[in-house]
Amino acid sequence: MLWQGRKGSTNVEDRRGMSGGQVAVGGGILGVIALVLNFLLGGDGSQLPQQLPNQNVPVSAEQQAADDQRAQFVGVVLQDTEDVWNTLFQQAGKNYQEPPLVLFSGVTQSACGTASSATGPFYCPGDQKVYIDLSFYEDLQSRFQAPGDFAMAYVIAHEVGHHVQNLLGISDKVQQMRQQLSEGEYNKYSVMLELQADFLAGVWAHHAQKTKQILEEGDIEEALTAANAIGDDRLQKQSQGYVVPESFTHGTSQQRMYWFKKGFQTGDMNQGDTFNSPDLR
Ligand SMILES: [Zn+2]
Repeated sequence: MLWQGRKGSTNVEDRRGMSGGQVAVGGGILGVIALVLNFLLGGDGSQLPQQLPNQNVPVSAEQQAADDQRAQFVGVVLQDTEDVWNTLFQQAGKNYQEPPLVLFSGVTQSACGTASSATGPFYCPGDQKVYIDLSFYEDLQSRFQAPGDFAMAYVIAHEVGHHVQNLLGISDKVQQMRQQLSEGEYNKYSVMLELQADFLAGVWAHHAQKTKQILEEGDIEEALTAANAIGDDRLQKQSQGYVVPESFTHGTSQQRMYWFKKGFQTGDMNQGDTFNSPDLR
């Protein structure tokens, strides 16, 4: 992705290098993290050692520089999402509220509960913020075999897509229906919500390309590889307080790629009604 030399968003809240707020009190930080992780991993303690955030490991100057560059990249992508969504909302006679994006390392607090590196990127409707630990960049590369900066841009755009759904009242509607639905039915709607976020990421890519020519050869393939590879349990997994149960699926890889591509090809918000799409029923 062509991003260098462009302005980054002022809405990045940089919490890297900070401890996890109240969690750190009393010096028992590792124990608390272990508990949080244990919760996240469904109590499977065998996975703890490699999952512990390396809070206390000194960072080399090189690592720091690479990390800072990624932070800059995230800021530029966020700015790109603001430019696109401000325009599209304006065209629809609406007002876009730009979401803050929290960059953190290790552990941080959100209105949706405690987040750790193991949480993966997520959007919290409670405080309307996007949360990203930059280590997910490496996860994409090594764990999900989905390398490339545009894979990361897609992930950010997907989370911002959840914010767009929140502003448009779509997420609320799904939440309201929850009481009337069986778990299975509700899960279906959750899948549609996820796929629509993929679609909105595609819509973003379409307009960002049109106005700024951000794409390099292979970028769309990077995003599709990520859409294919990321199990949403990983992408969405969140500690206490998150609205989505861990048990549901977020759509097949094929569906995720289909909706991202549809958004990218059309750039048309009106094409993204995943809720009335017959093949998802
Ligand atoms: Zn999502």
